[in-house]
Amino acid sequence: MGTDSNRHEFRAEVQQLLDLMIHSLYSNKDVFLRELISNASDALDRRRFEQLTDETMRTDRALEIHVKPDSESRTLVISDNGIGMSRDEVIENLGTIARSGTKEFLAKLRAAKEKPDAAPELIGQFGVGFYSSFMVAQEVEVITRRAGEDTATRWSSKGDGGYELADGERDEPGTTITLKLKDVDEDNHVRDYTEEWVLKDIVKRYSDFVSYPVKLLTWTKKEDSEAKVLDEKTLNSGKAIWAKNKSDVTDEEYAEFYRHISHDWNAPLAHVPVKIEGTFEAQALLYLPEKAPFDLFHPEMKRGVQLYVKRVFIMDECKELMPAFLRFVKGVVDAQDLSLNVSREILQKDRQIAAIRKQLVKKTFDKLEEIRGEDREKYDGFWSQFGAALKEGLVGGNDKEQDRVLDLLMTRSTHDVTKWTSLAEYVERMKDGQDAIYFLAGTSLEAVQNSPHLEGFRAKGYEVVFFTDPIDEIWLSRGLTFQDKKFVSAGKGDVELGTEEEKAEADKAREEKEREHKDVLTAIRSYLQDDVKEVRLSGRLTSSAACLVGDEGDMTPQMEKLMKQLGQDVPKTKRILELNPDHAVLAKLQKIYDEDKGSQDLETYAKLLYGQSILAEGGMLEDPAEFSKLVSELMTRAT
Ligand code: ADP
Repeated sequence: MGTDSNRHEFRAEVQQLLDLMIHSLYSNKDVFLRELISNASDALDRRRFEQLTDETMRTDRALEIHVKPDSESRTLVISDNGIGMSRDEVIENLGTIARSGTKEFLAKLRAAKEKPDAAPELIGQFGVGFYSSFMVAQEVEVITRRAGEDTATRWSSKGDGGYELADGERDEPGTTITLKLKDVDEDNHVRDYTEEWVLKDIVKRYSDFVSYPVKLLTWTKKEDSEAKVLDEKTLNSGKAIWAKNKSDVTDEEYAEFYRHISHDWNAPLAHVPVKIEGTFEAQALLYLPEKAPFDLFHPEMKRGVQLYVKRVFIMDECKELMPAFLRFVKGVVDAQDLSLNVSREILQKDRQIAAIRKQLVKKTFDKLEEIRGEDREKYDGFWSQFGAALKEGLVGGNDKEQDRVLDLLMTRSTHDVTKWTSLAEYVERMKDGQDAIYFLAGTSLEAVQNSPHLEGFRAKGYEVVFFTDPIDEIWLSRGLTFQDKKFVSAGKGDVELGTEEEKAEADKAREEKEREHKDVLTAIRSYLQDDVKEVRLSGRLTSSAACLVGDEGDMTPQMEKLMKQLGQDVPKTKRILELNPDHAVLAKLQKIYDEDKGSQDLETYAKLLYGQSILAEGGMLEDPAEFSKLVSELMTRAT
């Protein structure tokens, strides 16, 4: 066996991360141990699971985590006899940051470098696992052997740009991590991690529920003798927190368990214990995080629910237990009546799993409802983080789920654009005789709230809600109703506001005006025939000269863009240009037309009005250069 020791460079982002850790002002350095124990526990879970299906993985030894301090050499060893890592896995796992949110993380990292105060929060937000050991260690060595393989690998690093990789020695599969500890520095929150009471304190606080024994191994002198013996103490109770009575678990314990399963360093927003009894039995403990992960909309985001059967870990990311629109919910489900050999294929068809899922979804909705009722600010915070994901339930969920998501949905509206409002609150404020929920969808709040489409609604005192997430266009096109009220776009069709009488009057007045301006409208239409299907007078404008609207069933420009992004070949939807009948611009156009039916100015103005209408709703011009040329021309002509 050759000792081929060679140095590898860290990927740039890893070194940046390590620098951050090494110089970290993060005050809770104790958590490095929680991270290492958590990793060890995951490795044991995987080993136990592989044992179920693979005879060769069996071991007679109990699966355990050992913590071994040595005050003389100032080292701390954390070892497990879990799944271990192959050489390739070591390179992959301990030399890169394998997360889909890496890009954002790096951007934040760069910002943190310029603002050192921001670093602790950043560390807390990302929870950077294994690398956190560099907060307390000047050198870290990992010796690991993958279960099923004969050779071990040794990885070591001082966090100075790279790591050494060599063959290692290990009698059985698993991982041993040796930390060469930094000096004790109470000012900088580095405690003496070779002290028994310090280690006990940390394990009790952060890792008590870990389901494998976490044993402290210490050398103690025998009384009246020089000989030392190895003492063994189990530091954790290992009790499954989800199986305990709610009253026996403190909020802090719930929070720590959350950190353990989620790898989030922050406390959760809320926890949801679930007990299912009857024809079959299951317990669950769900958590709502406070902050959205950076990869919430990335297809590779780690899903949140783990499946246990009779206390035995079966799998991570159990998709069958939670719909995709609740993928951010973290937690554990322990089913008592499933087989330990359950496979993904079985899960997909299992009626018990379907029934559990239904309960989990219901309890999650109930909890959200409860939070909104008790603490509106907290709920608003939740909605800002996860609302866009939850709304996917309006597309992918079943009828019942859709109804509950609509109940929970929050939007901004013309009532008070700085606050979130629920649809129920909107309905309560609706005007007498109003039978629809008026909305305006667009790409950003800035764009929609200043849109000319709102003018008529504002003038007549009708509230309009705003939808600005990409998913909105999709569910809004599905014809859902809330409390029997349809969603009607303020930017589509012939929106008529007011009482029947008022509507009839407005219609009449507009028809008259249409007759009066018929020819000039036709002329304008002829100049814009590639872009609009109709030019007509508007009932929705009060101050702007023009706006663009779609027909009831038409695709909006955002939807068109979305479909194109999804690779769909969609034809361009021509829209309708509406002109304000009371605006001076219309009078001017009429005048030009009356004087010279073929005037070049008419074409210029038509194009300007069209471009202006696109800009007013926050859209993008197809040919900005042409538009600005027309504006300049207009300016040079003006006197
Ligand atoms: P995270 O645990 O959040 O994925 P870490 O940086 O803590 O990130 O660990 C990176 C990866 O290294 C883990 O996902 C796991 O695959 C591997 N790993 C870490 N510790 C161990 C261990 N004790 N045994 C086996 N694999 C480990």
